[in-house]
Amino acid sequence: MLRHLVRRTSSIRAAFPPDSWQAFTACLPRTSRFMVGQLDAVAASAALHPIHPPNHSRGLTTGTTLTGNAASNIHAASAESASEFLDDPGLLRDEAYVNGKWVKAKGGKTYEVTDPATHVVIARVPSMGAADTRGAIEAAAAAWEGWKQKTPKQRGDVLRRWYDLIQHHTMDLAKILTLENGKPLAESRGEVGYGASFVEFYAEEAKRTYGEVIPSPTPGRRLVTIKQPVGVAALITPWNFPIAMITRKAAPALAAGCPVVIKPAEDTPLSALALAELAERAGVPPGILNVLTCPREHAAEVGLELSTSLNVRKLSFTGSTKVGKILMRDSASTVKKLSLELGGNAPLIVFDDADIENAINGVLAAKFRNAGQTCVSPNRLLVQSRIYDEFVSTLAEKVANLQVGHGLQPGVQIGPLINPGGLEKVQRHVHDAVKKGAQVVTGGDLHALGGTFFEPTVLGDCRPDMLVFTEETFGPVCSVFKFQAEAEAIEMANATPFGLAAYVFAGDVGKGWRVAEAIEAGMVGVNEGMISTAVAPFGGVKESGVGREGAKVGIDEYLETKYLCLGSFR
Ligand code: NAP
Repeated sequence: MLRHLVRRTSSIRAAFPPDSWQAFTACLPRTSRFMVGQLDAVAASAALHPIHPPNHSRGLTTGTTLTGNAASNIHAASAESASEFLDDPGLLRDEAYVNGKWVKAKGGKTYEVTDPATHVVIARVPSMGAADTRGAIEAAAAAWEGWKQKTPKQRGDVLRRWYDLIQHHTMDLAKILTLENGKPLAESRGEVGYGASFVEFYAEEAKRTYGEVIPSPTPGRRLVTIKQPVGVAALITPWNFPIAMITRKAAPALAAGCPVVIKPAEDTPLSALALAELAERAGVPPGILNVLTCPREHAAEVGLELSTSLNVRKLSFTGSTKVGKILMRDSASTVKKLSLELGGNAPLIVFDDADIENAINGVLAAKFRNAGQTCVSPNRLLVQSRIYDEFVSTLAEKVANLQVGHGLQPGVQIGPLINPGGLEKVQRHVHDAVKKGAQVVTGGDLHALGGTFFEPTVLGDCRPDMLVFTEETFGPVCSVFKFQAEAEAIEMANATPFGLAAYVFAGDVGKGWRVAEAIEAGMVGVNEGMISTAVAPFGGVKESGVGREGAKVGIDEYLETKYLCLGSFR
């Protein structure tokens, strides 16, 4: 379908004299204008790296990006159309947000944000570094006192307005999200709703940061605890959930009385800036919510500044275990309070008495969301031997029918991988598995759309010596392993340093419960593939992290418990 649209757009364009094409598209309704811009871009991208690459092989390939004139022409056309494509173009910001002002980087440089499906440049945002980070931390530290002095209800009211605005602008936020992340629009809408639910939850929870009265063991004393905000919180977030990963941290922090300095991922700063725009409109005071945009080559210096600053009292990070360990090490220098939501390697166990249809639906929902680039995605499907063949063939049939394409196209279920690095990892995993004897039941290769699109894949006969077992693949690949007995499944599930999410599908609820207790993971879905919700605690064990987000425990991550001992009572 996309290929057809691209070809149609290109052939219609070819029929126009060069100067009249722009005049023609300017007359189109703005949504059509935007879509034509995107299709044009795909066509231009295909010229550099064809939709059907002529030497397309089943080997490793690295993705490409547009360069030179092609990129700047497309940028000129698309940045304008991208903002017109929104009901509220004011949400598409291209400056960072510090101390209540929209600012450029101190060095004046910018970097490009691209649509991962087309490589079209959507915007240029400030390329910030250590000096900008220090400025944002200082602004947050200076603003802290005023925010801390507000009552929890006053802070909750501001959060409630932020929530209402996010809900009101769901479609625009979803479009921005799809443009910079690539996930299908329906999923982006879902993420906006999920992200908003944290703001709603903590708007209410602000009022419930109760202390305790402790019965004193000694006469004449009264013992109480109170909860106080920890201070400036640094929030470092990944690209895979550019809205929800921010609200899951920022909402409890703000509710608790902590100012935040947010560093979104290089690939997805626009969603963060749109959230900042709405926070400003909601009445979040200057300095209380700051967003620093920076390219990957500055991530380490920004991270070091945030993790070593004495003014930053809390650091909350979601991302890879590798970076989490660096931040944990650097934060030791100032003994910071830490929350780390790190990588996973989720097992999904299907016992032979399970409802197979329900299990397959669970796999499809949990595995293929965001093209498999989700930390709680099942990475290893462990299927009991008696139902193995039936399970694999039914799953493969459904997976082969998943629609791949640009996330803005109706009906698309799988978008591109975020960047060439993500694609390279998926290809390396598949290559390694096949070399060691895995069977490609469906997919297994770059998608015909090229770029960073990868075919939804099912690999059978996988074994524990393969990368698909030991590492998180982070792509649309189901790796299926066979097991005979319950104990073997538990042993395989736990044979990893990670422990974020896990899933068990079993007909016998007692077995489901027993296995859920035995698996080393922070979260277990029993006969359920979609487990994330704002009202339940989210987090991992082992190298998947420390701390919990969401639920009533999520706000404690931003609070200190102070003990008061009142003496000399008569
Ligand atoms: P990543 O490389 O660790 O990046 C995450 C964030 O850290 C990005 O903002 C990144 O900036 C930044 N960063 C990179 N190097 C840094 C450094 N030295 N100091 C400070 N910040 C630094 O992770 P990713 O590969 O983008 O994201 C995928 C990983 O996140 C997966 O492992 C996934 O499982 C995990 N994840 C976990 C959860 C959870 O809740 N447990 C949720 C979502 C994702 P740049 O973008 O500029 O590199």
